[in-house]
Amino acid sequence: MKKFMYAVLASLIAGMILEKFTPYKIVTFAVDKFILFFAFLTNKINIPMYFLVAFIIIAAIVIVKSIILLIKPKFHRYKSDKIFGIKWEWSYDSFSRQLNPSSFDSVDPFCPKCDMRLIYLNDSDWDGIDNIAVHCEKCDLHKTFEGKDIYDLEASVKNEIERRVRSGEYKKALEAK
Ligand SMILES: [Zn+2]
Repeated sequence: MKKFMYAVLASLIAGMILEKFTPYKIVTFAVDKFILFFAFLTNKINIPMYFLVAFIIIAAIVIVKSIILLIKPKFHRYKSDKIFGIKWEWSYDSFSRQLNPSSFDSVDPFCPKCDMRLIYLNDSDWDGIDNIAVHCEKCDLHKTFEGKDIYDLEASVKNEIERRVRSGEYKKALEAK
């Protein structure tokens, strides 16, 4: 009996909800609200001229700055080259307009012979001098950079990239592609 009562109650509530929210009613409700919103948009308001001028100037600055950010400097196309006998690939921070050591997102070494990603190995001497090496697991190419750790090596590579961009040498590498 209790279950039956619940079923009756549920169907009554469902019926009331369906009665209240027919598709026709939902559509007319939405159209009503849209018309009200449109009427609100066509309202005329009195605002001081300086407010409008300031708004237009700020909007223009934001648009021009966005366009400048979207147009990347030419050096952003220079993303790989052979440096110190190794092939390097790198990416720039997309917001960098001027090239400097902090403009880089990453700098990665690749094998100049077989294009395999190179791994870093520690070739340091027993006397504590840092020697970092890059090694190819595919063709055994091995190159040691004496007196440098991994950060020194990457800094030297970034400095060389910066030099090639500043001197315009990078354009040759771009044209060769
Ligand atoms: Zn290799």
